[in-house]
Parts: sequence; structure tokens; C-alpha cells
Amino acid sequence: MSARTTVTTRHDWSLAEVKALFQQPFNDLLFQAQTVHRAHFDPNQVQVSTLLSIKTGACPEDCKYCPQSGHYNTGLEKQKLMEVQKVLEEAARAKAIGSTRFCMGAAWKHPSAKDMPYVLQMVKGVKALGLETCMTLGKLDQEQTAALAQAGLDYYNHNLDTSPEFYTSIITTRTYGERLQTLAYVRDAGMKICSGGILGMGESLDDRAGLLIQLANLPEHPESVPINMLVKVAGTPLADEQDVDPFDFIRMLAVARLLMPKSHVRLSAGREQMNEQMQALAFMAGANSIFYGEKLLTTGNPQADKDMQLFARLGIKPEAREEHGDEVHQAAIEQALVEQRSSELFYDAASA
Ligand code: SF4
Repeated sequence: MSARTTVTTRHDWSLAEVKALFQQPFNDLLFQAQTVHRAHFDPNQVQVSTLLSIKTGACPEDCKYCPQSGHYNTGLEKQKLMEVQKVLEEAARAKAIGSTRFCMGAAWKHPSAKDMPYVLQMVKGVKALGLETCMTLGKLDQEQTAALAQAGLDYYNHNLDTSPEFYTSIITTRTYGERLQTLAYVRDAGMKICSGGILGMGESLDDRAGLLIQLANLPEHPESVPINMLVKVAGTPLADEQDVDPFDFIRMLAVARLLMPKSHVRLSAGREQMNEQMQALAFMAGANSIFYGEKLLTTGNPQADKDMQLFARLGIKPEAREEHGDEVHQAAIEQALVEQRSSELFYDAASA
């Protein structure tokens, strides 16, 4: 594919085509990704979300990368479902530090009937604060998806993790087909989809391409595509996996951008291990969403002020809410940036 070719929105990608995108020279790939990115987004805006674990650990699933799985001993402190009021306090805090979306994650195989009323109250409460709402609760049935949609849930996160071929090497307690079924229910109920995967689990290039093909060939692209770098946690079966070449990670972001031109591609777990130069390259490749200012479920996430300093140095602004731009909220975020700029910690490359 020539560097000048424009990529349109498609749902029929083949493995050979996607591998060819990955295998071209790095600069050609980055140029294409940045060109496509600029055609659909403001290249200097990044959407910021905050993620809160509302129920932690003791998960019956056996995802080999996950410290929350009850199958592995990682020393993680387990927590029951959080009280609704506590969740709303955390959401208010997230809004105050500039997040526009609040994602709530529970380590469940699926939500139980007794937990659903609390979960629905959380959605309604967070929504009432003026935040976009997102949840990740495991497998859903049609009744549950309808109830969540009715409560005002904007996004449902349900990752495909990897290719269908590699999936059984990583998870044995559920099938790829079940994941796709939940995504179909979510779409049918009118909610937006957040779905992506993880690099660094020992997968091949075919598996990375295969994951992106599964996402891009859905009838509608997920609105949000988180691309995670494995966070190696002692006690999990993947604790000693080899590091991913940073350039290969950037390639994954760039190909995701090309295949799903209108989706937000999220630079997700593993960002704490990335230096600022790599994060800047990720934004260049078309990543335009991050988790910000909170713990990323159970693994660390760079501090909010560090993120704001990086945004300021790169001239990036946080994206306002998609549906109705909240000018007051945007002004508050920009004020925070100005304060960062004048803080002693801020290194102003332009005047140095
Ligand atoms: S990734 Fe989710 S489903 Fe898998 S073990 Fe962790 S919490 Fe459970």
C-alpha cells in the first residue's frame, strides 16, 4: 500500500492485508496512521477516562494475564462490591481532575441478579454527575444489557484480548464466541462498545493482526479500542513473558487507527512502563484516549499531574465530552493546564 493511499472504513479486512500494513517501513506506517487520524479527529486532543475497580479479585475466570483471577496467588487484596455512595464520591473526584468518562470494573464472570440493582444505581448516579458512563462486568445476557442501557450506560467494555486462534492459550473458562455474543447484545441494546486487547502474552504477528481484524470486521467498529501492554504481575502465568518491542507496540496502535479510523484508540494498561517519548509516538500513531489520574484497576497508572505536564509539553488538550460539550468543564481542565504550565515542575521546551 502506498503512503498516499487513503484508508476508508471497511469491515472486510483479510489477514494478508493487515499483515502487509504491519510489515511496511515504520515511517510509512506512522505517516499513514497520522494522515487518517487527522482526517477524523483533532490530532491535538486526547480523551481522558478514569477507571475504578468496584469489585476486586477472586474472579472465577482464569485469564492468564490477570492478577484478579482467583486461579492465581498474586497477593491482591480482595474487595466486595463497593457501596454506591463511595463510587459516586470517586466519580466526583474523577470529574474534578478532568476526566470526562468514568469506567467501573468488576471482577466477575457475569453480574448476579442480586448485584444488578446496585450496579444500575451506580450508572444512574455517575450519569447524573455529568460524566459519560462505562462498565466492565463480564458476560451479559439480553435482559442485563437492556437494563444497563435503560439506566443510561454509555459504553460497555468487553475485550476480545487476542486472536480467536490464540485465545485458548490465555483463557479456558469462557469462549471467544461468548465474548462476541455479549458484544452483539450490547450493540443491540444501543450502547457503545469498548473492546480491544493485550500485547506481550507470547502472541504472534498473526494473532495481533487477527485481533484487529475481529474488531474491525464487526458490523460496526467499537467506538473505543483499548490497546494494552501486558503488565507482568508476579504469581500470574504470564509473569515472565518477554517484553514487547516498543516499536511493535506503536505499530499495533497505528494499524488499529488505520482499520478503525473513527474509533478512539486507547493507550491503556502498561502506560506507566512507557517513557514520555514512547507516549508521544503513540499519540502520533493515532492513540487518542488514555486512562488518567487513578489506578488502572489493580495496576499502577501515571499520576494525573505528570499526564497534564506531558499534555502541556506536547500541546495536547483533553477532549470535551462527545455528546454535549461542557464548556465549564473544559475551562476547568484548561485552567489546570495553565497552572501546570506555571508550576516550577513544568519544563517549558519552547523557552528553554
Ligand atoms: S480479566 Fe476480568 S474476567 Fe479475566 S480474570 Fe481478570 S477480572 Fe476476571
